[in-house]
Amino acid sequence: MNHYSDFSEFFPCGGIKAGISLKQFQYFPPEDRKKIVSLFELNPEQIVIPVQTHSNNVVICTKSGGISNTDGMITIEKLVLTIQVADCIPIYLVDPVAKIIGLLHAGWRGIANGIVLNGIQKLIQLNSNPQNVIVFLGPSIRQCCFEVSLDVALEFDSSFVRNTRKGERMINLQGIVRSQLTDSGVNQKNIIDINECTFCFGEKYHSFRREGKSAGRMIAILGWK
Ligand SMILES: [Zn+2]
Repeated sequence: MNHYSDFSEFFPCGGIKAGISLKQFQYFPPEDRKKIVSLFELNPEQIVIPVQTHSNNVVICTKSGGISNTDGMITIEKLVLTIQVADCIPIYLVDPVAKIIGLLHAGWRGIANGIVLNGIQKLIQLNSNPQNVIVFLGPSIRQCCFEVSLDVALEFDSSFVRNTRKGERMINLQGIVRSQLTDSGVNQKNIIDINECTFCFGEKYHSFRREGKSAGRMIAILGWK
């Protein structure tokens, strides 16, 4: 069993290291971030760690260390961006032309409140052209398993909500993200979706929905070698 998945190959530009720790990787904050970053041969001294709050806040990072109340980071520096997830979507952003990277923690709340749009806007602030940006949607809970209340369903366009015969509302967060990205100027063909559901793949991923409060977390990382 692998302890992590390496997504670096999805970014066809030299030096990008992207990946995520898996369920077999022991979740033991804060040392686990240093360990996973070292496994990707990146510098543990350069780690950025946000205190995630399901906000829509995206920060342009200039130095390593902690950041309060943040669910997205963008940087032009040689930093290693990290977030933790267990059902929410880790969204990896890479502009290989402007040499900018970004990592977003995107659950339904953040997505409804515009974290994806904020992320693209921060990239543009750093002179990125969204047409050049490559986006990778990591393992996360998908429409097969993501039942939401009526209140949550009403936050989104009904085309992304499927009603089951039992009257459950199943939401397609990845589809919503994809449409927000293309609306922001990202090229459809530059959006890569791993297409694995954290709830379905119980051997491989932690899932808050499946495991509840005792659920561990996967650490998503993104940096330049
Ligand atoms: Zn599923």
